[in-house]
Amino acid sequence: MEATGMQESMETTSVFSESEIAEMENLFRQVGKEALTQEFCKDLAISFSSSTCRIGKPDISWGQVDSWFQDKQKDSLAFPNASISRKVPETSIVYKGGTATEIAELAFEANSSRDNAWYDVGTFLSYRVLSTGELEARVRFAGFGISHDEWVNVKNRIRERSIPLEPSECHKIKVGDLVLCYQERLDYAVYVDAHVMEIQRRLHDIKGCRCIFVVRFDDDKTEEKIQLDKICCRPR
Ligand SMILES: [Zn+2]
Repeated sequence: MEATGMQESMETTSVFSESEIAEMENLFRQVGKEALTQEFCKDLAISFSSSTCRIGKPDISWGQVDSWFQDKQKDSLAFPNASISRKVPETSIVYKGGTATEIAELAFEANSSRDNAWYDVGTFLSYRVLSTGELEARVRFAGFGISHDEWVNVKNRIRERSIPLEPSECHKIKVGDLVLCYQERLDYAVYVDAHVMEIQRRLHDIKGCRCIFVVRFDDDKTEEKIQLDKICCRPR
Protein backbone atom coordinates (compact mmCIF):
# COMPACT_ATOMS: atom_id res chain seq x y z
CA MET A 1 0.00 0.00 0.00
CA GLU A 2 1.23 3.44 -0.96
CA ALA A 3 -1.04 5.41 1.32
CA THR A 4 0.66 7.84 3.65
CA GLY A 5 0.29 7.45 7.38
CA MET A 6 -1.82 10.58 7.52
CA GLN A 7 -4.38 9.32 5.03
CA GLU A 8 -4.45 5.95 6.66
CA SER A 9 -5.34 7.29 10.04
CA MET A 10 -8.06 9.46 8.55
CA GLU A 11 -9.54 6.52 6.71
CA THR A 12 -9.69 4.10 9.59
CA THR A 13 -13.33 4.96 10.13
CA SER A 14 -14.24 4.58 6.47
CA VAL A 15 -12.56 1.50 5.09
CA PHE A 16 -16.01 0.58 3.83
CA SER A 17 -17.84 2.19 0.96
CA GLU A 18 -21.29 3.64 1.50
CA SER A 19 -22.98 0.69 -0.16
CA GLU A 20 -20.98 -1.76 1.93
CA ILE A 21 -22.06 0.04 5.07
CA ALA A 22 -25.67 0.01 3.88
CA GLU A 23 -25.41 -3.74 3.29
CA MET A 24 -23.96 -4.32 6.75
CA GLU A 25 -26.65 -2.14 8.32
CA ASN A 26 -29.24 -4.30 6.57
CA LEU A 27 -27.62 -7.53 7.67
CA PHE A 28 -27.27 -6.27 11.20
CA ARG A 29 -30.99 -5.65 11.36
CA GLN A 30 -31.83 -8.95 9.71
CA VAL A 31 -29.64 -11.45 11.53
CA GLY A 32 -29.32 -12.04 15.23
CA LYS A 33 -26.01 -11.41 16.94
CA GLU A 34 -25.52 -15.21 17.23
CA ALA A 35 -25.28 -15.24 13.44
CA LEU A 36 -22.38 -12.78 13.38
CA THR A 37 -19.73 -15.46 13.56
CA GLN A 38 -16.18 -15.35 12.31
CA GLU A 39 -17.36 -17.47 9.36
CA PHE A 40 -20.07 -14.94 8.57
CA CYS A 41 -17.61 -12.02 8.69
CA LYS A 42 -15.15 -13.92 6.50
CA ASP A 43 -17.82 -14.60 3.88
CA LEU A 44 -18.84 -10.98 3.91
CA ALA A 45 -15.24 -9.76 3.68
CA ILE A 46 -14.70 -12.03 0.67
CA SER A 47 -17.90 -10.77 -0.89
CA PHE A 48 -16.85 -7.13 -0.47
CA SER A 49 -13.27 -7.70 -1.55
CA SER A 50 -14.22 -9.51 -4.75
CA SER A 51 -16.80 -6.90 -5.74
CA THR A 52 -16.00 -4.95 -8.89
CA CYS A 53 -16.51 -1.75 -6.87
CA ARG A 54 -13.35 -2.65 -4.94
CA ILE A 55 -11.03 -2.85 -7.93
CA GLY A 56 -8.02 -0.69 -7.15
CA LYS A 57 -8.95 -0.46 -3.47
CA PRO A 58 -7.49 -2.51 -0.61
CA ASP A 59 -9.26 -5.74 0.30
CA ILE A 60 -11.51 -5.89 3.33
CA SER A 61 -10.37 -8.25 6.07
CA TRP A 62 -12.78 -10.26 8.16
CA GLY A 63 -11.43 -8.47 11.23
CA GLN A 64 -12.58 -5.13 9.83
CA VAL A 65 -16.05 -6.54 9.23
CA ASP A 66 -16.06 -8.08 12.70
CA SER A 67 -15.10 -4.86 14.43
CA TRP A 68 -17.71 -2.92 12.46
CA PHE A 69 -20.40 -5.27 13.76
CA GLN A 70 -19.01 -5.10 17.27
CA ASP A 71 -19.17 -1.32 17.23
CA LYS A 72 -22.67 -1.53 15.84
CA GLN A 73 -23.68 -3.87 18.63
CA LYS A 74 -22.38 -1.48 21.26
CA ASP A 75 -24.42 1.29 19.65
CA SER A 76 -27.55 -0.80 19.56
CA LEU A 77 -27.13 -1.77 23.20
CA ALA A 78 -27.00 1.90 23.99
CA PHE A 79 -30.09 2.52 21.84
CA PRO A 80 -32.00 -0.76 21.95
CA ASN A 81 -35.05 0.57 20.14
CA ALA A 82 -33.08 1.75 17.17
CA SER A 83 -32.77 -1.68 15.59
CA ILE A 84 -35.79 -3.17 13.92
CA SER A 85 -37.19 -6.35 15.36
CA ARG A 86 -36.85 -9.28 13.00
CA LYS A 87 -39.62 -11.21 14.66
CA VAL A 88 -42.75 -11.12 12.59
CA PRO A 89 -46.05 -11.52 14.37
CA GLU A 90 -48.35 -14.35 13.30
CA THR A 91 -50.99 -11.81 12.41
CA SER A 92 -48.96 -10.22 9.65
CA ILE A 93 -50.24 -11.26 6.28
CA VAL A 94 -49.07 -11.43 2.70
CA TYR A 95 -50.94 -8.43 1.51
CA LYS A 96 -49.94 -4.85 1.87
CA GLY A 97 -51.94 -2.47 3.97
CA GLY A 98 -52.64 -2.93 7.63
CA THR A 99 -51.78 -0.73 10.52
CA ALA A 100 -48.68 1.35 10.95
CA THR A 101 -47.37 -0.92 13.69
CA GLU A 102 -47.66 -4.01 11.50
CA ILE A 103 -45.78 -2.18 8.78
CA ALA A 104 -42.98 -1.28 11.14
CA GLU A 105 -42.55 -4.95 11.99
CA LEU A 106 -42.16 -5.96 8.37
CA ALA A 107 -39.10 -4.16 7.24
CA PHE A 108 -38.18 -5.94 4.00
CA GLU A 109 -39.65 -7.36 0.84
CA ALA A 110 -38.00 -9.82 -1.51
CA ASN A 111 -38.48 -10.52 -5.19
CA SER A 112 -39.42 -14.11 -5.93
CA SER A 113 -37.81 -15.70 -8.97
CA ARG A 114 -40.96 -17.80 -9.39
CA ASP A 115 -43.16 -14.96 -10.58
CA ASN A 116 -41.00 -11.84 -10.29
CA ALA A 117 -43.42 -10.48 -7.69
CA TRP A 118 -42.49 -8.92 -4.36
CA TYR A 119 -43.44 -10.52 -1.07
CA ASP A 120 -42.81 -9.45 2.49
CA VAL A 121 -39.93 -11.22 4.14
CA GLY A 122 -40.98 -13.10 7.26
CA THR A 123 -37.61 -14.46 8.31
CA PHE A 124 -34.06 -14.42 7.05
CA LEU A 125 -32.93 -18.02 7.47
CA SER A 126 -29.29 -17.99 6.37
CA TYR A 127 -26.76 -16.48 4.01
CA ARG A 128 -24.30 -17.70 1.41
CA VAL A 129 -21.69 -16.15 -0.82
CA LEU A 130 -21.64 -17.26 -4.44
CA SER A 131 -18.41 -17.83 -6.36
CA THR A 132 -19.10 -14.50 -8.05
CA GLY A 133 -18.82 -12.87 -4.64
CA GLU A 134 -22.48 -12.01 -4.49
CA LEU A 135 -24.39 -12.46 -1.27
CA GLU A 136 -27.64 -14.38 -1.17
CA ALA A 137 -30.10 -14.79 1.66
CA ARG A 138 -32.46 -17.67 2.20
CA VAL A 139 -35.82 -16.14 3.00
CA ARG A 140 -39.09 -17.38 4.38
CA PHE A 141 -41.83 -15.24 2.89
CA ALA A 142 -44.36 -13.90 5.38
CA GLY A 143 -47.50 -15.97 5.27
CA PHE A 144 -45.83 -18.79 3.32
CA GLY A 145 -44.39 -22.10 4.40
CA ILE A 146 -41.07 -23.82 3.96
CA SER A 147 -41.88 -25.00 0.43
CA HIS A 148 -41.76 -21.38 -0.77
CA ASP A 149 -38.37 -20.59 0.77
CA GLU A 150 -35.96 -19.12 -1.75
CA TRP A 151 -32.37 -17.99 -2.15
CA VAL A 152 -32.50 -14.33 -3.06
CA ASN A 153 -29.76 -11.96 -4.15
CA VAL A 154 -29.36 -9.48 -1.31
CA LYS A 155 -28.29 -6.54 -3.45
CA ASN A 156 -30.88 -6.69 -6.23
CA ARG A 157 -33.83 -8.62 -4.94
CA ILE A 158 -34.21 -7.57 -1.32
CA ARG A 159 -35.24 -4.07 -0.43
CA GLU A 160 -37.00 -2.04 2.19
CA ARG A 161 -40.73 -2.58 2.22
CA SER A 162 -42.95 -0.55 -0.07
CA ILE A 163 -45.43 1.66 1.74
CA PRO A 164 -49.21 1.75 1.28
CA LEU A 165 -50.58 5.28 1.22
CA GLU A 166 -53.48 6.91 3.01
CA PRO A 167 -55.99 8.63 0.66
CA SER A 168 -54.72 12.01 1.85
CA GLU A 169 -51.20 11.08 0.76
CA CYS A 170 -52.00 10.49 -2.91
CA HIS A 171 -50.07 13.63 -3.87
CA LYS A 172 -46.88 11.83 -2.86
CA ILE A 173 -47.07 9.80 -6.04
CA LYS A 174 -45.59 11.54 -9.05
CA VAL A 175 -45.40 10.74 -12.73
CA GLY A 176 -42.30 8.64 -13.38
CA ASP A 177 -42.22 7.07 -9.94
CA LEU A 178 -41.39 3.43 -9.43
CA VAL A 179 -44.28 1.94 -7.47
CA LEU A 180 -45.34 -1.47 -6.29
CA CYS A 181 -48.72 -2.32 -7.80
CA TYR A 182 -51.29 -4.94 -7.08
CA GLN A 183 -51.67 -6.66 -10.44
CA GLU A 184 -54.82 -8.67 -10.90
CA ARG A 185 -54.98 -11.19 -13.69
CA LEU A 186 -57.49 -13.95 -14.39
CA ASP A 187 -55.80 -16.62 -12.33
CA TYR A 188 -53.52 -14.74 -9.99
CA ALA A 189 -52.91 -11.44 -8.24
CA VAL A 190 -49.47 -10.29 -7.17
CA TYR A 191 -47.49 -7.20 -6.24
CA VAL A 192 -45.12 -6.23 -9.03
CA ASP A 193 -43.06 -3.20 -10.03
CA ALA A 194 -44.58 -0.58 -12.26
CA HIS A 195 -43.96 3.02 -13.27
CA VAL A 196 -46.47 5.82 -13.09
CA MET A 197 -47.14 7.16 -16.60
CA GLU A 198 -49.94 9.61 -15.93
CA ILE A 199 -52.08 10.82 -13.04
CA GLN A 200 -55.64 12.03 -13.45
CA ARG A 201 -56.29 14.00 -10.29
CA ARG A 202 -59.87 13.96 -9.07
CA LEU A 203 -61.66 15.61 -6.23
CA HIS A 204 -61.64 13.35 -3.20
CA ASP A 205 -65.01 12.37 -1.80
CA ILE A 206 -66.24 10.55 1.26
CA LYS A 207 -64.67 7.32 0.00
CA GLY A 208 -61.28 8.98 -0.19
CA CYS A 209 -58.95 9.27 -3.18
CA ARG A 210 -60.71 9.11 -6.56
CA CYS A 211 -57.61 9.86 -8.60
CA ILE A 212 -56.72 7.57 -11.48
CA PHE A 213 -53.15 6.39 -11.89
CA VAL A 214 -52.04 5.09 -15.25
CA VAL A 215 -49.22 2.64 -14.59
CA ARG A 216 -47.04 0.57 -16.88
CA PHE A 217 -45.94 -2.75 -15.45
CA ASP A 218 -42.18 -3.22 -15.72
CA ASP A 219 -42.47 -6.87 -16.70
CA ASP A 220 -44.83 -6.99 -19.63
CA LYS A 221 -45.04 -3.24 -20.35
CA THR A 222 -48.84 -3.35 -20.26
CA GLU A 223 -50.62 -0.25 -19.00
CA GLU A 224 -53.51 -0.15 -16.61
CA LYS A 225 -55.60 2.48 -14.85
CA ILE A 226 -55.68 1.81 -11.15
CA GLN A 227 -56.58 3.53 -7.92
CA LEU A 228 -54.49 4.44 -4.94
CA ASP A 229 -55.45 1.41 -2.86
CA LYS A 230 -53.57 -0.84 -5.27
CA ILE A 231 -50.37 1.20 -5.12
CA CYS A 232 -47.53 1.17 -2.62
CA CYS A 233 -44.80 3.76 -2.94
CA ARG A 234 -41.10 3.19 -2.48
CA PRO A 235 -39.52 4.60 0.68
CA ARG A 236 -37.57 7.77 -0.10
ZN1 LIG B 1 -56.13 11.35 -4.86
